[in-house]
Amino acid sequence: MTEEENEATHTRAKQYAREKGYVLNVDEKQLSAVLRGLARNKERFGAAYCPCRLRSGDPEKDQIIICPCIYHEKEIEEQGTCHCRLFFKKKSE
Ligand code: SF4
Repeated sequence: MTEEENEATHTRAKQYAREKGYVLNVDEKQLSAVLRGLARNKERFGAAYCPCRLRSGDPEKDQIIICPCIYHEKEIEEQGTCHCRLFFKKKSE
């Protein structure tokens, strides 16, 4: 996977987090593992499929697990973080 794809994935995640009022995982290692997984899926399969979920292989069905997946808002609301621990709820000040 290219460094550009990695960077672009990070930029997109940061932008999305900002828009939604989330924060990215502050653990650099965990964060970069998820970002790398997303970038790798984008390169291999053409879309940033969630690296923590199983693809069915059917692009139509797998649309729901393209990051940000359909589950993340509920997960963040309920558990404070999405399944992959990419996005976190902002702690209230
Ligand atoms: S669980 Fe998190 S990282 Fe995985 S697709 Fe959903 S929002 Fe993206």
